[in-house]
Amino acid sequence: MTRIKKRNTCLVADPNGWKSAFLKFVHQVKPYRACQFCFKFYRYLMLISQKQLAHAAIQRIACAQTNSHIPLYCNIRTRLTSSRQLARMALSTKVGNTSQTETAPEVRLPQASPMYSATGLDVWTMMNQVAAAVGAVNLGQGFMSYPPKDFIRQAAQDALVENTHNQYAPPRGRPGLLEQVAVRFSERLGRDIDSGSEVSVHAGANEALLSVFTAFLEHGQDHEVILMEPAFDQYTPNVAMAGGVPVYVPLRVRDGCDAATHDISSDDWRLDMAELEAAITPKTRIIVLNTPHNPIGKVFTCDELALIGAVAERHNLLIVADEVYEHLTFGRDHVSIATLPRMWERTVTVGSAGKLFGVTGWRVGWAVGPAALIRPTLAAHTRIVFTSNTPLQEGVATALRQAVHNGFFTIQREEYLRRRDRLMAIFADIGLPCVVPDGAYYLLVNASAVRARIPTDYAFPDFITERGANFKLVYFFIKEFGVSGIPPTEFYSDAHKDLANDYIRFAFCKTEEGLEAAAERLQTLKQFLRGPAQA
Ligand code: PMP
Repeated sequence: MTRIKKRNTCLVADPNGWKSAFLKFVHQVKPYRACQFCFKFYRYLMLISQKQLAHAAIQRIACAQTNSHIPLYCNIRTRLTSSRQLARMALSTKVGNTSQTETAPEVRLPQASPMYSATGLDVWTMMNQVAAAVGAVNLGQGFMSYPPKDFIRQAAQDALVENTHNQYAPPRGRPGLLEQVAVRFSERLGRDIDSGSEVSVHAGANEALLSVFTAFLEHGQDHEVILMEPAFDQYTPNVAMAGGVPVYVPLRVRDGCDAATHDISSDDWRLDMAELEAAITPKTRIIVLNTPHNPIGKVFTCDELALIGAVAERHNLLIVADEVYEHLTFGRDHVSIATLPRMWERTVTVGSAGKLFGVTGWRVGWAVGPAALIRPTLAAHTRIVFTSNTPLQEGVATALRQAVHNGFFTIQREEYLRRRDRLMAIFADIGLPCVVPDGAYYLLVNASAVRARIPTDYAFPDFITERGANFKLVYFFIKEFGVSGIPPTEFYSDAHKDLANDYIRFAFCKTEEGLEAAAERLQTLKQFLRGPAQA
């Protein structure tokens, strides 16, 4: 119901019809007015001789239109003397400046680009909706269900007080943040990073990635980009938006691992170097490398990085290193490929304040690399968003400065490790094996035993059926057991989707209470798994 009150005039629209509009109206006006006006209003409608006319008029205004936001316009102090007058007034109602007519003229618009009009709901929105509909414990999307630490929130609040922090930042980024990112990367990469030429600040890592693709791919040239599957779902559309063509090379579980019955390590997912090399053509421009990896949790070893680097070198390729989870490894060191010999020159490393500080909504990220690579990346960024938000850049700069001294990253890593272990224990108790992540905050659970027990006549909505077996598994899981995850086939091209049909991705960046609530819900799953598999 929409109500706009202007002096003694109010505007009411209600999709449920005039009675509902009337009742809500009665609830909204002050009691004094309600008795002064509303009951007269009601009487006018119901008792006076031309009530049919009034009824028809109100109905037409209040609910007959398809978009439902059609106002009933009443002047509270107007003394209506007849329903005819009321009806006339209602019929001449205006929405904005447009008179309502019986039939709205057909609106003709240009067609949306097929790239976007053909796109269904993104997996996050879709699964969040499914989860919300059944009140599921949401372990799907990778956002934190707990607040950031106080010093981080305070840094953002303080930033807003300074007036200059509320105006445009330079496209490259606020000097304070550029400096802090340069300090952090100088230490990580073991070289002096120049904040004025080797860093750019972006609207999250996503926009940094889009900027690099935009800078190095050319429309009409079919430049190819190698993506390792499962590949974070933004890569494919971002490459396409920049005019590039994604080429997929899947990570495969090592021979001899029985992932359906036993836990395996994220390190058991390997890149076949021959397959990588075979995917490269004269049109290849970029290899995207994500370590620590979403959703597997794989932290690429030095040897693997060296082999990938050698391929890039042999074919003169750019490496885009998506290292947004660089701070989250469990018992294994994260190595930036840019630290390997001759790799700095061909690598843009992308990072995210959202991941680093548990503030995914702040939308601050960065790209770090040699000036020759950052210059075009920054030029693209300037045309995509011009600049990212100023106060939160300042907030991140302050948080980075403080985190060096307050032990935040160590504490955070321990907290994540506890959450990871708790979620793994929950699934161990149920009897579903998982891929033990060495990094990031996701757990891939092998739910083939659940898939095998989905009743053959289970009713799936069309929007799920058309997305394949893995979406059906995840939908079934959410509906029946009340805990939501994400179907990892969304991270695959059609050719390789089947590699992930049995898996569900759960995020463990959630509160202890959230994880315990999930554990409780999943008790019914234990029972379910004792039942027979479908034929
Ligand atoms: N890369 C990977 C691998 C991610 O998982 C994410 C976020 N889920 C991003 C990039 C995007 O990071 P940001 O929120 O900073 O845009």
